Amino acid sequence: MGYTLSDITFLIRLLLDILVVWGLIYSGLRIVRNNSRTIQLVKGVLIIVLVKALAVWLGLNALNYLIEMFLNWGVVVILVVFQPEIRGMLEKVGKTTAILTVDVSVSQIQQMINELVEACSQMSKSKTGALISIERTQSLSDFIRTGIVMDSEVSTELLGTIFQYGTPMHDGAVIIQGNKIACAAAYFPPTTKDLPSKYGARHRAAVGISEITDSITIIVSEETGNISVAVNGQLTQYPPEGLQRYLTNMLVQSSNQNPSSILVPMLNQAKSMSKRAKKQEEDINKDERVKAIEIVNLIEQKKEGSQHGISK
Ligand code: ATP
Ligand code: MG
Repeated sequence: MGYTLSDITFLIRLLLDILVVWGLIYSGLRIVRNNSRTIQLVKGVLIIVLVKALAVWLGLNALNYLIEMFLNWGVVVILVVFQPEIRGMLEKVGKTTAILTVDVSVSQIQQMINELVEACSQMSKSKTGALISIERTQSLSDFIRTGIVMDSEVSTELLGTIFQYGTPMHDGAVIIQGNKIACAAAYFPPTTKDLPSKYGARHRAAVGISEITDSITIIVSEETGNISVAVNGQLTQYPPEGLQRYLTNMLVQSSNQNPSSILVPMLNQAKSMSKRAKKQEEDINKDERVKAIEIVNLIEQKKEGSQHGISK
């Protein structure tokens, strides 16, 4: 039975359709999973859809009409309320390889990291509270507008001065774009998720901004002097050297997307795989040797047993 050309194009179209829809659902779920606000939204929509299905099934016309109205307007409400998330999502679609929105050289970024880490280390020692967000591929300009706009090169002294307790700019967040401080005293929408009670408003603000953008946010705790980083809704504590390594990894190494820098991690991966394979092989060989010895012993025991039997 032969297939016609139209059968094949139909099949290809069907496969393509399934693949695209699968990809959309997958990336949608990935975005939703990282953000407590969108998880809440999905839950809400699911409940409304369930209630609507129930209303149709039981013939509750008034309720059905009400939900329909709500769903029609709901789209507008969702667009307005989730404007930052939707923007972030659309911006993510366009930008997958760039790691910063602004164009700066690797040495400028490295210099910025050095100044920033030194400032965090000093503020950690003096227990000066700080909140610093580094813009990556998604723009933070909406949040820069909420603060005092600046345009100064990142320096240890400037950061120290900004966060000095009692100064007008110490409240709120500093936002870094490239190697510049774009603003101080910015406001971030705090997370709504449950954090351990030891975390207060500063940590909640850091987690909040990390849920809706791909920024890297550093927090120095006024209470403990601990340095933490909020990325993708997760908080991780770092010593100053760890912070230096982390930032270099995230902002410098991944920006050198030349073939060799892509090949190096692949090569390392391959090396570790071959090491693991070798070890497994050794383990198997060892097992086989043990088994072989057991079998030889068993045969010898049997032999002895039968010889005894003969001699009896
Ligand atoms: P710490 O460990 O430093 O005490 P914390 O997580 O316990 O931090 P708070 O003690 O409540 O937080 O810190 C309050 C400070 O955090 C405020 O003075 C302000 O500078 C900053 N802050 C709080 N909320 C926000 C926000 N939404 N956006 C930006 N900065 C904020
Ligand atoms: Mg506190």
